Amino acid sequence: MKPIHVVVVGAGPVGVVAAIAAAQQGFKVTLLEAGTEVDHNPRAATTHCSTLEFIDQVGLIDEFIQQGLVARYFQFWDRDTRSKVAEFDHDLLSNDTKFPFVVQTEQHKLVLMGLKRLDTFPDVSYQFGTRVTHLEQKVDHVVLTTEANGQIDTITADYVIGSDGGKSTIRKLLNIEFEGYTWPERFIVLTSVHDFEESMGCCYRNYFAGSQEWANLFKVTGDDYKGRWRAVFPARADESDEEALSNASAEKRILDLDNACTLDSIVHRNIYNVHQRVAQKFRVGRVMLAGDSSHLNNPIGGLGLNCGIHDAMELIDSLVDIRAGADDRRLDLYEKRRKTLNVQFIQEQTINNKKRLEEKDPLARKNRLDELKKIEADHVLQKQFLFKSSLLQSVQSARNITL
Ligand SMILES: Cc1cc2nc3c(=O)[nH]c(=O)nc-3n(C[C@H](O)[C@H](O)[C@H](O)COP(=O)(O)OP(=O)(O)OC[C@H]3O[C@@H](n4cnc5c(N)ncnc54)[C@H](O)[C@@H]3O)c2cc1C
Repeated sequence: MKPIHVVVVGAGPVGVVAAIAAAQQGFKVTLLEAGTEVDHNPRAATTHCSTLEFIDQVGLIDEFIQQGLVARYFQFWDRDTRSKVAEFDHDLLSNDTKFPFVVQTEQHKLVLMGLKRLDTFPDVSYQFGTRVTHLEQKVDHVVLTTEANGQIDTITADYVIGSDGGKSTIRKLLNIEFEGYTWPERFIVLTSVHDFEESMGCCYRNYFAGSQEWANLFKVTGDDYKGRWRAVFPARADESDEEALSNASAEKRILDLDNACTLDSIVHRNIYNVHQRVAQKFRVGRVMLAGDSSHLNNPIGGLGLNCGIHDAMELIDSLVDIRAGADDRRLDLYEKRRKTLNVQFIQEQTINNKKRLEEKDPLARKNRLDELKKIEADHVLQKQFLFKSSLLQSVQSARNITL
């Protein structure tokens, strides 16, 4: 019997993980990527326990840990006083997961190691510089039109996974609404080689609440493995990109975080739009959305890519069930599970995370910081907090969602 052909559109981290999971299950896989090379822009790094279990399932865990940093703790800080408020310890989850820690590995490294892994399967191919421009759904297959180097071609798939990012062509071709909103302020990422751990005593993942301006601060290894820190700040709603990325603004923000830091230590600057959006549908016929094509959220808490990898794994499980005889309502279940979990866990948590850090009212701010101290002091509460923030609870809840 001919193997089922799954075409994955977009070789970002979600598409690559979906392609490996499909290949492991014996599907024929074609991965199509519009870009001519892997995108190295600084985006996701924080990978939670629940997602590490999936990275393990696709055979990448050793390399993933080796190329990143293991972060057992994360901390909340009060930026106004530059003092630590609370520290949470993932080790409290050691009975709940094989990986009671976060791993900070840049997403382009996951893509690169994933492509190497795809090379080990016989019925798998990937093509860079190939953009999907059109799709046509037939009764028992889908025809995709592609463009590569000005050449137009078609490819036939049994099923299509649209993992082509926030501006998804596949979502638009399916006429699916991307419901939600865009925050008025953009987020700035300053990457620095200054050692914040040595200088301030923070850990590899830090969230700073600020009455004037919040910040996030993370360590990654960098391509040279010498270590880099990514500091994320909100731009003012009326601040232009030029102003936000200027030397004066960058220096002010980074010095305000740690006055031992210098402008010279900044090696990369970036600014981007931030959204809270969920696709109205995750599936039309034989075409499914996964990852940023179906949901976007602010990056506080590091959940977007994690959720996308969870989508990919659930989607391949659904296709395995269909191959084994389930009817196509299994794909409706995929949509119901992933959409519900995204709204309940990812949208809700990331919006709350942002509110917690940006609270300006002195009393409300004090209450929020006191609440973090209370959670830190009580191991039952701390474990509940971690179970949710690491998405272990979302994985558990998925099993209870039925049609
Ligand atoms: C600053 C920042 C920090 C973040 N930090 C975290 C974090 O710590 N943890 C976390 O979980 N998430 C984080 N995120 C979110 C994370 O980066 C995204 O969720 C993740 O990139 C989604 O992966 P994806 O594969 O769905 O989409 P993408 O990474 O956007 O990949 C989509 C791919 O599809 C390709 N493509 C697009 N259109 C077509 C087409 N028509 N044909 C073929 N290919 C196409 C694109 O070229 C691209 O390679 C962060 C985001 C930002 C901006």
